[in-house]
Amino acid sequence: MRYHLLTLGCAKNTVDSMRLEQALRGGRHVAVAVPAEADLLVVNTCGFIDAAKDESIQVVRELQATRRPDQRLYVVGCLTQIARDELLAAVPGVDATYGVEAWDAIAADVGAASATFDIPDPGAGLLGSGAPSAYLKISDGCDRPCTFCIIPTIKGRMHSMEADRLLAEARWHAATGVKELVLVAQDSTAYGEDQDAPDSLAPLLEQLSAAVPEVPWIRLMYAYPGRVTARLAETMASLPNVVPYVDMPLQHGSDAVLRRMKRPSLRVARRSLDLLRTAMPDVTLRTTFIVGFPGETEDEFRELLEFVEAERFDHIGAFTYSPQPGTPAALESDQVPTAVKEERYARLMELGQRLSLEANRAQVGRELDVLVESREPTTSRGGGPVSIGRTQRDAPEVDGLALLKGSFPAGALVRARVDGALHYDLMCSPVEPVEVSATTRPSRRARRRIR
Ligand code: SF4
Repeated sequence: MRYHLLTLGCAKNTVDSMRLEQALRGGRHVAVAVPAEADLLVVNTCGFIDAAKDESIQVVRELQATRRPDQRLYVVGCLTQIARDELLAAVPGVDATYGVEAWDAIAADVGAASATFDIPDPGAGLLGSGAPSAYLKISDGCDRPCTFCIIPTIKGRMHSMEADRLLAEARWHAATGVKELVLVAQDSTAYGEDQDAPDSLAPLLEQLSAAVPEVPWIRLMYAYPGRVTARLAETMASLPNVVPYVDMPLQHGSDAVLRRMKRPSLRVARRSLDLLRTAMPDVTLRTTFIVGFPGETEDEFRELLEFVEAERFDHIGAFTYSPQPGTPAALESDQVPTAVKEERYARLMELGQRLSLEANRAQVGRELDVLVESREPTTSRGGGPVSIGRTQRDAPEVDGLALLKGSFPAGALVRARVDGALHYDLMCSPVEPVEVSATTRPSRRARRRIR
């Protein structure tokens, strides 16, 4: 059977789709890039916020409207875990729905042998997405009490992946030519807590660093404020292939709002930021905020702007709050009007854009490594080739790009000088090719991103 798998939402969903793909391929099913060529259409959905739900429903609707009668349509993942009836009401006629981590059931349904994730032999051709970067999901689920968040309901209690399995998975990615491993979880700093082994992220990083020394970039996403220990920060600083980059979603910059969100205070957040900056003076910090949380006043929003200005984050992401049924915040009566949320969102993003530009300008004249991601160079205004990649300062799919003069294959790591700064991107020229290799293969899976 030929299948077309479409993945929406976050990086964790990308890893989940990889699990599903391996189950399907283990059952001798074949991935196809074009929906029209498939016997089975699978959408792995996102249900994190309203915009993500809407996008998921729209994608399913489009497939439903265009599919042939002999094509099956399955919808799986977060949206169907929490809002299956809503989906089926919006798009009647879907053949099957499955919630999160239902890999065994899906595999049995379509006749795949097993959904158990075995690390494949790289030589067997069971490759992942083919990109120079790969996600490594170190845990899933969450035990935190954030009042706006539906993730604990969707994903359940936090559960860590076994270190041996993660190391094997990392070696497999390395053997396929991956140059960057991006560690993801709902809360990466909780790794090991469910096994009565708190502060286990630092030893895991040490094991990963030693297991795949040929992978030059290991990146940490989704740290929780207050859970960054001195041991973790110092371990990151000491490992040559762990990049000085941390994504720590902070959600707000007003203590009153953070209390209502049941999130750690600014004092706790600042302690984590200080630990990281002390251990890694060059650290790149990304964070995410929610604007328009119930009851957010103009003064509280200004506190957020002042906090952002003071901390000078390199990268900022933001969402306007959307009430998620089943969460405490959705029951609050003092919801902020949509127009106010959007106006505050625009002000925050304008500030974030200015800080990003200033951070990028500070890089001009420096030499950095650029990991090339484009498979074909694009063309500059002057007519010369330009390869698209990223420096260590930018995480895949959420941060900026490096526009590198010249033609380099995907997966090449090129030493480059930063010639100029744009709001989010850097313009670079090669200094010397540190390494030029193109061991990755073209992606077969269409992917869309919501965060
Ligand atoms: S830590 Fe993140 S995933 Fe967990 S409840 Fe809070 S916002 Fe949701």
